[in-house]
Amino acid sequence: MLKIAPILFAILYALAMYRFSAWRTGKELDQKSTELADPGLREILTRLARALDVPRIKVHIYEIDPVNGLAAPDGRIFITRGFYRKYRNGEVTGEELASVIAHELGHVALGHSRRRMIDFSGQNAIRAALAMVLGRIIPGLGVWIANAVTSLLAARLSRSDEFEADAYAAALLTKAGIGVAPQKSLFSKLEALTGARAGAVPAWLMSHPKTEERIAALEALETRWETTRG
Ligand SMILES: [Zn+2]
Repeated sequence: MLKIAPILFAILYALAMYRFSAWRTGKELDQKSTELADPGLREILTRLARALDVPRIKVHIYEIDPVNGLAAPDGRIFITRGFYRKYRNGEVTGEELASVIAHELGHVALGHSRRRMIDFSGQNAIRAALAMVLGRIIPGLGVWIANAVTSLLAARLSRSDEFEADAYAAALLTKAGIGVAPQKSLFSKLEALTGARAGAVPAWLMSHPKTEERIAALEALETRWETTRG
């Protein structure tokens, strides 16, 4: 019984931390966001909504600079102020921004956003809990193993999630008559942006698989759809 107690404690601690970080993230997003109201984007968003057979798609602006899109655990979709600015500057088209929104919708629809919370801010709690348990079994090495296992697990989870969300977005954009091209061009643009300003890697790219791999996966989808349609 005494041996199980610390493990139980660690699990409870991880759960509590998870709840807390979900709550904190929600609060942070509430305080630092406004609803996106852009006449130029409304038309594109209406097309996406029609393709999904929903009245409308609500998008929020998250007031931070790094170029990023995110899906909150409660299902809300956010585009950062930095990303929106790129659209306003003409660096990113409305269709390209819509491709990010479609990607985030994919995370919500496929149930990734809750799971991604572990990735987003709860990961340290899981790591700490695992380190505590493993540290008792293998002193010294336990913490190291816990770190490695958590990182590996998170990377695997997010990798497959990204490809799934891309595929969802590709299908949605195709149905909406926008097509997959903006998705691919945005990847290349963000990649070029990374090259131009070393050290200023957009957060959205950093947390995602390699650009070439994502474009290749989209092209494979396109080919498959072409052949099944023809
Ligand atoms: Zn994603």
